[in-house]
Amino acid sequence: MAVPQNRTTPSKRNMRRSHHALSASSYAECPNCGELQRPHHVCGSCGHYAGREVVSMVEELDLDDES
Ligand SMILES: [Zn+2]
Repeated sequence: MAVPQNRTTPSKRNMRRSHHALSASSYAECPNCGELQRPHHVCGSCGHYAGREVVSMVEELDLDDES
């Protein structure tokens, strides 16, 4: 197994980790329902994309209900 010959200094370690920060994901308002949606994704609440409905948002049928 490869073993590092020299200990990494805190400075070098922190310089390497300077690129590890996470950035917050961006959101845009859906033009159809106004809900926040991720850019270039189908709206999660109304199923619209590019001005038309691409996913029908019908209430899911409860097949376990015996009545
Ligand atoms: Zn929407």
